[in-house]
Amino acid sequence: MKVRVDPEVCQGHGVCHMTAPDLFLLRDEDGQAYVEREEVPPGEEGLAQLAADSCPERAITVD
Ligand code: SF4
Repeated sequence: MKVRVDPEVCQGHGVCHMTAPDLFLLRDEDGQAYVEREEVPPGEEGLAQLAADSCPERAITVD
């Protein structure tokens, strides 16, 4: 499973980071979310999907 954050859409609410802090990090400058690795570690697929479903801006895609 791969996960991505669209920087054009992310508004920095931080819900993804609260949901899955190991997957989504927030930039100090503007609070925008990013992932260090697009490949989701085994066992964390559910968290990645939950974060995507919880993002108010629909900025997260998983596939
Ligand atoms: S929840 Fe969505 S809008 Fe908020 S920081 Fe995460 S990716 Fe960005």
